[in-house]
Amino acid sequence: MSTSTNEPPTPPTYPASYSGIPERLLHKAVRDKSRIWNHQSIDFLTPRKRGLAIPAGIGRSEFLKAIEDLSHTLGKEHVVLNDQPLEDGWYMEHPNTHDAFMIMDGEETVSSAVVYPGNVPDVQLVVKWANKHLIPLYPISMGRNLGYGGAAPRVRGSVIVDLGKRMNKILDINPDDCTCLVEPGVSFYALYEEIQKKGYKIWVDTPDLGGGSVIGNTLEHGVGYTPYGDHWGAHSGLEVVLPTGDLLRTGMGALPGSDAWQTFPYGFGPISDGIFSQSNFGIVTKMGMALMPDPGGDETFLYTFQNENDLLLLVDIVRPLRIANILENVAQIRHATIEIAVSGKRRSEYYEGTGPIPNEVLQSHLEKTPIGKCTWVYYGTSYGPPHVRKYKMDIVHQEFMKIPGAKRIDPTSLPKSHYYWSRAKIAAGQPDFEELSYMNWVPNGGHLGFSPVSPTRGPDVLKLWKIAKQRHDQYGIDLFMTFVVGMRELHMINLVVYDRGSPERRKAVEKCMRLMIDDAAKAGYGEYRTHLLFQDQVARTYNWNDNALMKFNEKLKDALDPNGILAPGRCGIWPERYRDRGWEIGPEGRDTSEGQGVRPSASNGRL
Ligand code: ADP
Repeated sequence: MSTSTNEPPTPPTYPASYSGIPERLLHKAVRDKSRIWNHQSIDFLTPRKRGLAIPAGIGRSEFLKAIEDLSHTLGKEHVVLNDQPLEDGWYMEHPNTHDAFMIMDGEETVSSAVVYPGNVPDVQLVVKWANKHLIPLYPISMGRNLGYGGAAPRVRGSVIVDLGKRMNKILDINPDDCTCLVEPGVSFYALYEEIQKKGYKIWVDTPDLGGGSVIGNTLEHGVGYTPYGDHWGAHSGLEVVLPTGDLLRTGMGALPGSDAWQTFPYGFGPISDGIFSQSNFGIVTKMGMALMPDPGGDETFLYTFQNENDLLLLVDIVRPLRIANILENVAQIRHATIEIAVSGKRRSEYYEGTGPIPNEVLQSHLEKTPIGKCTWVYYGTSYGPPHVRKYKMDIVHQEFMKIPGAKRIDPTSLPKSHYYWSRAKIAAGQPDFEELSYMNWVPNGGHLGFSPVSPTRGPDVLKLWKIAKQRHDQYGIDLFMTFVVGMRELHMINLVVYDRGSPERRKAVEKCMRLMIDDAAKAGYGEYRTHLLFQDQVARTYNWNDNALMKFNEKLKDALDPNGILAPGRCGIWPERYRDRGWEIGPEGRDTSEGQGVRPSASNGRL
């Protein structure tokens, strides 16, 4: 037990560190780090039981020799073996060696080494090296994909290509077109700070936590909360190193001298961008993105709804308003449990019992908060000058108040410490840090995301909610549920928060996740994104017409990556050398992430 009551060292700041927190948010990072530090009962460092993880298909000495060769060409300081004790860190100082929010034993998804390319030719060099030695690579931008695997590779012993550390330039911000072009190590914080520094009247759409990279989040189909919340939909132009080392630009970037790379995403011919998102078909080294012009005003509103079943009515009210753009942003409909958890207090301050926190207990605590008793909370934002906002918000009010018991909370009645103010900032394109507070709910807090998608229709949402609730109840997990309002669909994001220091809780959480994925698929719902160790299961729920989509993905994989070196298994796509060797993890789960080795070489041969 290494519980420490000492205050931890101050987190790194931006711009001193490319992945640091801006000074304006440092106080929140210091606060949250201290909470996490003081609520940790497991050791900060985990000694390695299994030593250096050598990837399947290569012997130890051959691997070490290959690493030595690479350090000669890339530079010794840019090639680091991952053979030290594992340090989980926390959000702002996350590891690039393994998954800090492990589900299986932490050593199941460790890498063998981390390499830090400094430019595109370096990335090509690493890719060619991997092809020569048949060593699996796993590219990350910043590796803050927490809850979905962090920086961990799917195949134990892969070499992490950490692009962000040295490739973190904002290459362009165009205030007239409202676009930008960034490298992998540019976080939402960094992009926002740069725009402020330049004094441009443009907004960055940001996820709840701004420390992730613009590229990593977009490739994972992440969302933010302004009208530009669909990040993939807002991107324009990729530069990609293919698994063979070739370099291409998509869209208008393929036309030498074009100045429209960031303004027209399609170019000419098939739109190839899609195959580089949620896949293992290339390493993205540059990406363009649309930015939102300052709309001249914004106002975040907050409504509460009393009963669980109000969700049915609410969602059917939201749909037409959202499609007609009266409700303009990617809003959140949050379950009230998160409202108290986001205060940053420990669960034990509310409830000491096992099993999910009972509704009476939840309500008795909510009653003491400014929003009062409720089950659902809607945070939305209206944009434009006051008269434009009033027009839209009057309609919203009239519609929302049709639900008996609905209440509009006057923001001026809320203390400055209330979570509302953070949501208001995020919906106005200002990356924040408040959402991390719920990590303090349990000791050694980790989380997983269960994130199915449904049409914005009451009956669908109610079905999904019941699936999640039943399985959470079965495994004694509190329901941290948010519906993220897209245009015509909702992402149901269940943050399954757990004590990662307890192998029993990790098992329970894994079982709960696997059952929810299956239940949802049987009812016709699929995840938009998932943790590394659930990707096989999720990918195989998208199995229409005898797995036609996966067969197509495998064909692409074999054509683009004949040696199967790039992120094998990511998103359930396995290259030929790994297929039919038991690498896939099915709905029943298991204790190892590995299969029975790899074929010595692909049937279509080495490059
Ligand atoms: P973030 O930068 O937001 O922390 P990550 O770097 O963890 O996100 O990226 C999430 C996932 O997306 C990674 O696990 C990786 O599989 C993929 N990914 C991220 N960046 C790239 C990239 N530049 N090229 C290819 N795949 C990437």
